[in-house]
Amino acid sequence: MNLLQPPNAVFFIGLVVQFMIRHHFIQRTKSEKKTVRQVDLIEKILLAAVLPAALLFPPLYCFTPLLSFADYELASSIRWAGAAIMIASLWLFMRSHVDLGQNWSVSLELRQDHQLVSHGVYRWVRHPMYASIWLWGLAQGMMLANWFAGWAVIPAFAAMYFIRTPREERLMCEEFGDGYREYARLTGRLFPRLTKAAEPAHAPELAAGPVSNGESSPPAR
Ligand code: SAH
Repeated sequence: MNLLQPPNAVFFIGLVVQFMIRHHFIQRTKSEKKTVRQVDLIEKILLAAVLPAALLFPPLYCFTPLLSFADYELASSIRWAGAAIMIASLWLFMRSHVDLGQNWSVSLELRQDHQLVSHGVYRWVRHPMYASIWLWGLAQGMMLANWFAGWAVIPAFAAMYFIRTPREERLMCEEFGDGYREYARLTGRLFPRLTKAAEPAHAPELAAGPVSNGESSPPAR
């Protein structure tokens, strides 16, 4: 059984920890009312592609021989480097849930009294939770010596990330207007800005709540 290989066992423990973090925050936020819900067919298809790659293939690989056709040799140094990336991913995953607090939801939604979060890890990047999932996908590929169980999550999450992120930023712009545009100007999407953002002609304060219903999109980065 593949689970007996130490990197696979460590990955599996990480998967359980990730699942428990998610479960905890689902429970914590479930009483918060939602005022906007953009869960259309595209959103459902994107989620349906990510879930098996993230939650079904790794256990199949660890506990059954069903995916053994896609096994390959992977140096143990790479697998343990993947474990270090997995730990970084779990930290960022946890941290971004804590910082988003009651504003977090699994899909594109706004809560009653939704606040624009720009503190903690959100001070540096606009999508730390998605950054943690990119790291997770990389760790999964480096730790599981199977093309399918290891790497399927990357294209599935890439589709979700590149389609969902602009929609999410548009939703944030509609809700927080200039507050979000200013926040977007000062932060990177996945990586912190290394250069100082140019001053806008008119610089509104970074808002902590609804400002106006802006029409335009945030600056692309
Ligand atoms: N894209 C973010 C959040 C993912 S959770 C990240 O990767 O960290 C998705 C929900 O978070 C969205 O429905 C949106 O309502 C909310 N959200 C995203 N950015 C936010 C922010 N800066 N402040 C408050 N809510 C935010």
